[in-house]
Amino acid sequence: MNVAPEPEKLLPADDKTNGWSAILPRREHRPAAQESADFDWLVVGSGYAGMAAASRLALLNPSQTVALLEAQQVGEGAQGRNAGFAIDLPHNNDHDPSNMEKGLRHIRLSRYGIDCLDELVRTHDIDCQWSRSGRYDCAVSPEISRKILGSTAAELDALGEPYQFLQGEALHERLGTRYYDSAIYTPGTRLMNPAALSRGLADALPPNVHLFENSPVLSLKTAPGVTATLPGGVKISARKAVLTNNAFISRFGYFKRQLLPFVLFASLSRPLTPEERKRLGGTADWGITPAHGIAGATLRYTQDFRILFRYGFQFAPALRCPESLRERMKHAHELLFRARFPMLGQVTLEHFWAGFLSLTQNGAPGWGRLSENVYAAVNCNGVGIAKQTAAGALIAELASDTGHPLIADMIALGAPGMLPHRPILDIGVRAYLASMKWAGRSEK
Ligand SMILES: Cc1cc2nc3c(=O)[nH]c(=O)nc-3n(C[C@H](O)[C@H](O)[C@H](O)COP(=O)(O)OP(=O)(O)OC[C@H]3O[C@@H](n4cnc5c(N)ncnc54)[C@H](O)[C@@H]3O)c2cc1C
Repeated sequence: MNVAPEPEKLLPADDKTNGWSAILPRREHRPAAQESADFDWLVVGSGYAGMAAASRLALLNPSQTVALLEAQQVGEGAQGRNAGFAIDLPHNNDHDPSNMEKGLRHIRLSRYGIDCLDELVRTHDIDCQWSRSGRYDCAVSPEISRKILGSTAAELDALGEPYQFLQGEALHERLGTRYYDSAIYTPGTRLMNPAALSRGLADALPPNVHLFENSPVLSLKTAPGVTATLPGGVKISARKAVLTNNAFISRFGYFKRQLLPFVLFASLSRPLTPEERKRLGGTADWGITPAHGIAGATLRYTQDFRILFRYGFQFAPALRCPESLRERMKHAHELLFRARFPMLGQVTLEHFWAGFLSLTQNGAPGWGRLSENVYAAVNCNGVGIAKQTAAGALIAELASDTGHPLIADMIALGAPGMLPHRPILDIGVRAYLASMKWAGRSEK
C-alpha cells in the first residue's frame, strides 16, 4: 500500500480554479511581509477563525497591534472554496441524539458565529449574496429518508427547533428537480458566495490589524515571545500567537496524530438563461445538504442563477490531491449533475476545484491555550463558516482574559482524540469511508 507523506513539512497549495473567486472582479492583494517587524499579537491563517480572532483581538485591545499572516491570498483557502452554508444546527458528526446538552452547545456556538457574520455583513455592506434562505436536508431514497431524516426530525423535536418535512410536489415546487424523495427544511442557515464573504471580512478588519497575504509561516519559535520565520528570513515577532491554520497546524508540531485531513470537490455552473430557469422551475436561492453526509451531494441554486455542486470526500493525509483523483471526480460531477437536472440539457459546470478540511475522530475542535503564549482555533469538522467564526472570536476572548460566557461551551466540546499510527490509520479511515459510501449508495 502507498502511504502518503506526513503533512509536517507542507504549506497550503490550493488549485487556482476556485469558481467562487473566478466570478468576482479582480482584487488588489495586500502586500506580503517583506521586512522583519514586532507586533503585540500574531495570527496565522486568514480563514474564518483567523479573521474572527484578529478582528476580536484588535477590538478588545485597541491600543495594540495584530499581524495576520496568510500563506496564500484571502479567500483562496478552504474559507473561499466551500459550499457557502453557515449552518446553525448540529450537522454530520455534531449529531448525538443521546446528548441533548451537546446539541444545544453546538447551536449556541454556531448561532453566535452566524450573529457575528450577520452583523459584519450588515455593518460593512459586504456584497456576497448573503441570504437567509435556510437549508433543505435531502434524501434521495425512501429508505435513507426513514432512517436519517427520521432521526433528524426526532432530534429537532427534542431540541425544540422548528422544521418542515417536505415530499412530492411540495418539495418539487421549491427546488425544481424531482431527484429527491424528501427533505427537512430548517430556516436558520445563511447562504453566500464564500470567496466574496472572505474578501469582505478582510476589508472590514479594524485598522490595528495588519494583514499580510502570500506570507507563509515556515517556522515558529515560541519562547521567549513568539517569532515566525517567513521566506527570505523575514521575522515577525509578537508577545502572543493565535494559530488558525486548520490542518496545516501540524507543521508547527501541534495536534500530531489528532487531525484527519480530507479533500472535497466542488463545481459551479454558468448562470442559467431565463429559458433554462423556466425549465428548471422552483425559486432561486436555495441550498441542499445531503441527509447522508459522506455519500451524498451538496447543492446550491444561487441568487445569480448558478448551480453549485459539491460531491466527493477522500482521506488526504498529505494535504494534496492527485491529478487522477481530480479527473475522476470532475467526471462524476458532470454525471451526477445531469442526473439531477435532466431539464438543463447543455448547461456545463464551468468551474471545478478541490479543497481541504480537517476532522477529528471525536468531532472535538483543536481549541484553547497550547502553551504560555500560544493559542489555537483549528479543525473545523466540516462546518467552519459558523463554528470557526465563533471559535476564532472566542479564542481572542480567552487570550484577552475577558471571561466571555461562551468560552465554557468551547471548553466543554473537549479535545481531539488520539488516532492510531499510520499505516493502520490509512487502512481504517479508507475502510470506514468505503463502508459508509456503500451504505449510502442510493444518495449519490
Ligand atoms: C469543498 C468544500 C466545501 C465545504 N462546504 C462548507 C459549507 O458549506 N459550510 C461550512 O461551514 N463549511 C464548509 N466547508 C469547510 C470550511 O471551508 C472550513 O470549515 C473553514 O474554511 C475552516 O475555517 P478555518 O478558518 O478554520 O480554516 P481555513 O479556512 O482552512 O483557513 C486556514 C488558512 O490558513 C492558511 N495557512 C495554512 N498554513 C499556513 C502557514 N504556515 N502560514 C500562513 N498561513 C497558513 C491557509 O492558506 C488558509 O487560508 C467546506 C470545505 C470544502 C473544502
